[in-house]
Amino acid sequence: MNEPHRPVLGQLPPRVRIAPSPTGDPHVGTAYIGLFNYVFARKYGGQFVLRIEDTDQERSTASSEAAILEALRWLGLRWDEGPDVGGPHHPYRQSERLAIYQAHVQRLLASGHAYRCFCGRERLEELRKVQLAEKQDVLGYDGRCRALDPAEAAARAAAGEACTVRLRVPKEEGRVTAFDDDLRGETITIENRLIDDQVLLKSDGFPTYHLANVVDDHLMEITHVIRGEEWITSTPKHVLLYQAFGWTPPRFYHLGLLRNADRSKLSKRKNPVSIFHYRDLGYMPETLLNFMGTLGYSMGGDVERFTIDEMITHFDWARVSPGGPVFDPDKLDAFSGADIRALDVEALLGRISATVLAPERLKGLLAHAQGRIARLDDFIPYVSFAFGGAVDYAPVISHVKAIKGRGRAQLIAILEEYAQEIERDREARSFEALALESFSRGFCQAKGWKPKELFALLRIAVTGRTAAPPLFDTMALCGKDRCRLRIRGMIAALQAEADW
Ligand code: GLU
Repeated sequence: MNEPHRPVLGQLPPRVRIAPSPTGDPHVGTAYIGLFNYVFARKYGGQFVLRIEDTDQERSTASSEAAILEALRWLGLRWDEGPDVGGPHHPYRQSERLAIYQAHVQRLLASGHAYRCFCGRERLEELRKVQLAEKQDVLGYDGRCRALDPAEAAARAAAGEACTVRLRVPKEEGRVTAFDDDLRGETITIENRLIDDQVLLKSDGFPTYHLANVVDDHLMEITHVIRGEEWITSTPKHVLLYQAFGWTPPRFYHLGLLRNADRSKLSKRKNPVSIFHYRDLGYMPETLLNFMGTLGYSMGGDVERFTIDEMITHFDWARVSPGGPVFDPDKLDAFSGADIRALDVEALLGRISATVLAPERLKGLLAHAQGRIARLDDFIPYVSFAFGGAVDYAPVISHVKAIKGRGRAQLIAILEEYAQEIERDREARSFEALALESFSRGFCQAKGWKPKELFALLRIAVTGRTAAPPLFDTMALCGKDRCRLRIRGMIAALQAEADW
């Protein structure tokens, strides 16, 4: 057991970063890791960098990136360098830094720390099959191209033959790679024979996560890498890369993964994971920050309620526990209720007018209600479906049962598939009414459901009502996170329904 590494005031201020991949909704895990990076940077007068790791071109989207920035801003986790802010290490979007990675790969090729690999997808798949079938203890690339003559390989690549570039992991008998995890206060050691000759540069010229991450952490002068424990297995690969470049690695801290109550990894099947869910359901950002600050971190004694400034003042790695903390929504609700009670009425009015009743939101709802209400006073009950979280299905469950010819299992399955597929659909993900409609019609066709049936089910799930305004307008007005929450609620209600 090593003494955990503690930065000392007066030492060079730390430079830390978060490096989210813009491939979906802004995740609470990003906010959680962001919080600890931010607090640490602020405590020691350092810098907090935001870098967008968008090298996965298929999955990265500009809208996801914009959402991450918006979510971090809403939380008040202000970055000192990064997109929209700039800084000396500009650009901060990896897709704009390709030439940098390519030049670094050239260095590794020249020094012999990397080699070109011409093995195609087919051979690699075949290799994997054999390794699995033979239950080999080491999976991964078998090193066939390690022996190629570098000049010959370079000529083949120059002639246009597709290739990747791999790290030449030193595999001599007994070689190991070690790094200190300063949060755990332990040295983690792994035998090199277990480390794959990972791809650094893909055949399309894009870097892999490992290469881009290490090159950027070095060039951006990151001193402490504070990230989730899911990256622990990548760290030895990174350490080998630092060695290959002749660079000093940063210090590493791997925080415990957030967990559901059953201790499984926090997932959207069991808990909402989008930061926007919490924003749009009316949690205040400081409440969410305080709640996340209690996950795996203790202020000492039984103090659980603290501001981010207090967290910064008292922050100490010794009080961060690496065990995966449980993300308990009931506790968040308790914090939130207490924070609402602590506001005076004026302040509460201000908060509500800026969020739940923000003019932009009201305008959308009014446009929708205007043609359908007889008196001004009808407005609130008419649009009430767009507020609040869970819905009580008891009064309407008999209508669900009446959806002809569909048993409970089928209803549950179709709701689950719908919720999943909508996430994957580039258009529908935006949650605009037209996109939702065309997605939903296509979905019905693909699944052999009549639109009328599915739409009735969705209407009940999303609003708790059997007759409601046009379904896709309703869904758009409720917003993605509220819809997702309610579809999940409907699934739970169906599962709980006895004698059916
Ligand atoms: N792009 C990685 C992510 O999506 C970054 C992991 C790291 O912090 O190194 O979380």
